[in-house]
Amino acid sequence: MNAASIAALSTSGVQVEVVPETGSTNVDLLARAGALAQPLLLVAENQTAGRGRAGRSWLSAPGHSLTFSLAWKFESGPQALSGLPLAVGVALAETLGRLGVQVRLKWPNDLLKDGDKLAGILIETAAAPGPGIWAVIGVGLNLVMPDELEREIGRAVSAVPWLARMDRDELIAALLDGLAAMLRQFERTGFSAFAARWNLLHAYQGDTVRILDRGAVLHEGVAAGVDDTGRLLLDTSEGRIAIAAGDVSLRLKE
Ligand code: ATP
Repeated sequence: MNAASIAALSTSGVQVEVVPETGSTNVDLLARAGALAQPLLLVAENQTAGRGRAGRSWLSAPGHSLTFSLAWKFESGPQALSGLPLAVGVALAETLGRLGVQVRLKWPNDLLKDGDKLAGILIETAAAPGPGIWAVIGVGLNLVMPDELEREIGRAVSAVPWLARMDRDELIAALLDGLAAMLRQFERTGFSAFAARWNLLHAYQGDTVRILDRGAVLHEGVAAGVDDTGRLLLDTSEGRIAIAAGDVSLRLKE
C-alpha cells in the first residue's frame, strides 16, 4: 500500500500515512492526536496488537486484512460523539455495498457478512490542546480469513476474498471517502441523520436477542432498531426499553 497513491485516489483531502507494521493504529494516533493539525489516516500493513472494546483483542494476518485508524477533530465536546460508532458502521457498510459486498450491522459496532463478523470498529478519544476533541476511529476488516486465524479467534468470522483482489489503495481510498463524508455530515447533524440508514442495514431486526454484561444476561427481547441517539430498542416482556452501548454485548438468542 502506498500513502501518496491512497491520498491521490481519495477526494477527502485527508492526509494519509502507511506503516509496514505497528502494534495498534489507534494507540499510535491517540499518542499523536495532541500534535495533529488536521485529520490523518494511518494504515498498517500489519497490526500486531489490535484492540477491541473492553480490552478484547482484534486479530489479523499480514496481507489478509485492512487495519487502519482515522483521527478526526470535533469542535464540540465528547457528548457530540454519541452514536458515532454506529454512523461509522453505516459509512463502511454503504461503501462496501457500492463495491458489491452486502453487509449488515450488529449493534453497536460490528459489520456482519452472512451472519458472521467481518469488521470491527473501535472509537477512542484524546483531548485536543484547545477546545474540541479528537476521535480516533479504528477499523479492522477481514479480506481473507486463514483457517489458523479463525481457530485462534475462536468463533466463526467472515471475509471478503473478492474484495481482496481489488487494488488495496483504491479500496482504502473508497472507505476513507465514505468515512470523511459521513463525519462532515455527523458534525452538522449528529447521529439522528443516520438512524434510518442504520435501521435499513440492521442485521437482527425482529429477532430475539440478549444483551450481556460479562456473560450475564441483562435483557432479552425482540430487536427493534435504534433510536435517534443510537440506543438499541428492545421489545421485552415488560415493554420497550432503550439500551445505551456502554460495554454490553449483544447475542442472537440460540
Ligand atoms: P462482542 O462481539 O463480544 O459483542 P464486540 O462486538 O464489542 O464484542 P469487539 O470488542 O469490537 O467485539 O472486538 C473484539 C472481538 O472480536 C474479540 O473478542 C473476538 O471475538 C473478535 N475478533 C477478533 N479478531 C477478529 C477478526 N479478525 N474478525 C472477526 N472477529 C474478530
